Amino acid sequence: MNVADSERMAGLLKKIGYTLTEDADRADLILINTCCVRGTAEDKVFGQIGRFKSLKREKPSLILGVAGCMAQKEGENLIKRAPHIDFVLGTGQSSEVARVVQSLERERKHFIDTSNVSGEIPTEVFPLRGGQVSTFVPIMYGCNNFCTYCIVPYVRGRERSRKPEEIFAEVKQAVAEGFKEITLLGQNVNSYSGGMTFAELLTAVDKIDGVKRLRFMTSHPKDLSDELIAAIAGGKNICEHIHLPVQYGSDKILKRMNRVYTVEKYLKLVEKIRKAIPNLSLTTDLIVGFPGETEEDFLETLDFLRAVKFDAAFTFIYSKRSGTPAATFDNQIDDETKHRRLDELMKVQNAISLEKNLALKNSVVEVLVEGASKTDDKIFMGRTRSNKLILFEHGNEQAGDLIKVKITQAQTWLLKGKII
Ligand code: SAH
Ligand code: SF4
Repeated sequence: MNVADSERMAGLLKKIGYTLTEDADRADLILINTCCVRGTAEDKVFGQIGRFKSLKREKPSLILGVAGCMAQKEGENLIKRAPHIDFVLGTGQSSEVARVVQSLERERKHFIDTSNVSGEIPTEVFPLRGGQVSTFVPIMYGCNNFCTYCIVPYVRGRERSRKPEEIFAEVKQAVAEGFKEITLLGQNVNSYSGGMTFAELLTAVDKIDGVKRLRFMTSHPKDLSDELIAAIAGGKNICEHIHLPVQYGSDKILKRMNRVYTVEKYLKLVEKIRKAIPNLSLTTDLIVGFPGETEEDFLETLDFLRAVKFDAAFTFIYSKRSGTPAATFDNQIDDETKHRRLDELMKVQNAISLEKNLALKNSVVEVLVEGASKTDDKIFMGRTRSNKLILFEHGNEQAGDLIKVKITQAQTWLLKGKII
């Protein structure tokens, strides 16, 4: 979501004459787009703000801004803590970025606006998209779910859906720019309410010429509909991959997290999806060390992982976010236990991911070519429809081509293959 927001702000700044640079030393404007979903993300931002202090001293004309979730949460505290920041722009005001920068070009004084967290979604957007093959299109902003650990509803406001016509226009624009793969984005795409259901929206985007692959994230298990499962199963270019964050594998903790489903309900849902969509790739998010987690809860979660067999899982240590209900819960877990449990969880999941990948050996998969690998320009990388990274020896392929590759080697996070 932050990548998509950054591209939108970059597009607005381009209109007033700015271009992107990788070199902070040469920049006239540095805009830090922030995340505050976990404490580690915030710490990184403070480190970055500190590093830019000497740059500002050397070049007083440099404008330094902070946008995104942490800007929304901290507001003027950021400037109190680091007065070399020129402006702080909350999540609902990101479309104001060009106006704010222009006013700072004329007159330097601190500017802070975090007034409207559920601000209107801009209708005209001109994102300056990164990459060349795959891109994000937000379909909704905000969240109404209030999982007890999560800060997102407080810093991104209530759920608002974009109109289908605007989404279609943006997808067509991205295709015209050469993008082949579109990922529709929302905190919970299943509750899309822009005038049609999410399944209808997905099916309509699937029909747009030039969309070679279509993905979406994220789906909340509580309302992933039969209609959506049927849309994926019957889709043209909708990839057979669902990211379905479970967060935990015991009912007691799920209840305390306010996730509104049980382990049994989740397992039944997975069974239903797998029946309807052969070759489904299923990934998830998990949090360990939630307040009140006992060893028994944790072992139940390991059993749950062994039962579901996710293709991959993003695993996080619970991070206490002030202002969320869970921050005030009793029985917060100590750091050592959290780290031990994370290691054990990852060990169990990594073995499953490897087993799943090994089972793919000798099969032939469709790969969307992304370009040369980072370390060797004779080796290209791409992604399977299941969203797995695959390396192969380069022939005449170009980024954006769809090719067939036979899988010859499998690792936990990576496949290797030969073009056929
Ligand atoms: N809306 C999405 C996810 C948004 S945040 C969803 O509901 O799935 C991405 C992930 O960060 C979450 O799935 C969760 O696993 C993790 N997360 C959120 N708050 C967290 C916290 N306080 N500590 C650790 N991980 C957290
Ligand atoms: Fe956070 Fe839950 Fe909303 Fe996801 S659904 S953004 S985890 S509150």
